[in-house]
Amino acid sequence: MCVPRELGGAGLGQLAYYVAWEALFRHCGPNNWLMLYALAHWAFGPSRLLEQITAEARNRFMPGLMDDTRSMCFGLSEPNAGSDASMLRTRAVRDGDGWRISGRKIWTTNAPVADYCILFAITDAGKAAARQGGISAFIVPTTSPGFRVQRIIRLFGHIGGDEAEIEIDNLHVEPWQLVGKEGEGFQAALYGVSLGRVYNSARAVGYGRWAIELALEYSKVREAFGHAIAEYQGVTFPLAQAATELHAAHLMGLNASMLLDQGKPAIKELSMTKRYSVEVGYRAVDRAMQTHGAMGFTNEVGLTAAWHALRVVNVADGTNEILDRTVSQRLLKGDIDL
Ligand SMILES: Cc1cc2nc3c(=O)[nH]c(=O)nc-3n(C[C@H](O)[C@H](O)[C@H](O)COP(=O)(O)OP(=O)(O)OC[C@H]3O[C@@H](n4cnc5c(N)ncnc54)[C@H](O)[C@@H]3O)c2cc1C
Repeated sequence: MCVPRELGGAGLGQLAYYVAWEALFRHCGPNNWLMLYALAHWAFGPSRLLEQITAEARNRFMPGLMDDTRSMCFGLSEPNAGSDASMLRTRAVRDGDGWRISGRKIWTTNAPVADYCILFAITDAGKAAARQGGISAFIVPTTSPGFRVQRIIRLFGHIGGDEAEIEIDNLHVEPWQLVGKEGEGFQAALYGVSLGRVYNSARAVGYGRWAIELALEYSKVREAFGHAIAEYQGVTFPLAQAATELHAAHLMGLNASMLLDQGKPAIKELSMTKRYSVEVGYRAVDRAMQTHGAMGFTNEVGLTAAWHALRVVNVADGTNEILDRTVSQRLLKGDIDL
């Protein structure tokens, strides 16, 4: 739906992407797994990020990604490089026309089943150390000799495990596998992460809305002290506050994605949106659990699954602190329009 037309998609933009994901999460809640595959996920499926792959890579990889028989993963984070990507240790060393890559990746979502990986590696150590580029992105089949999923990481709330640690040993890549320009992989990384921020903002608001709607219904039928608990302001005011916060986050999401559709980087606005949305979405789910009393902790209601999922996205795709850091840096540079 939102893959650019030149890659074979319908060419809808970020606003459509935001609205569609928010609606899916709101209507389906956390217990519907098929819903997660109704739209192409930015990191596992085809997305705008792939505008930067070469014609040869398009020919080889796009058909399988577009007909949903192939999936991808995004290999940026490393054991010693999370928030600070300049600490990457994975190296791509020149080998003829191409490169040989060695290193490790961690937390790579979908890696255990992915067919391709967008892999980030240092191609110019001097520039990387001086934070002036020097990191390149490559698209590699996960069946390439030298690419090995070392272990699946057992992670809170991710039953079945789809985050993995990867070992890359002397993996050969050719020039057609470059994503974007040599040494400019960091821009590709930021671009991918910003797609993830739109997705996760929508996910948080969608889950939050689903949870609040569930709590409102429950409060009308659950009785205590002779009345439905909906009659107690101690129950409904926190839900009203959560709804207010979700409304604000929803409007922020619409605004940030519209700015992206207008070709604006929206760095500050998207950072604010993801930071705020995941916080208030998580809080809304927590309030909905409180409304349900002990029922809130049962697996069949599903609130705990949403709560787990949103706790995790307070870290994934940029931690709350890193997003605050980005916003404050933008403000200090004079980007003070709100
Ligand atoms: C579920 C999940 C899926 C993920 N999927 C992927 C994936 O597919 N591909 C991928 O490449 N990565 C993935 N990640 C990794 C994710 O991008 C990193 O976890 C994230 O960037 C934070 O890095 P870190 O965990 O190493 O934390 P660290 O960078 O070690 O940070 C630790 C703490 O220090 C804080 N901190 C760090 N620097 C500052 C600062 N300057 N000011 C204030 N506070 C600071 C952080 O906010 C955090 O609270 C995933 C993570 C999760 C949880």
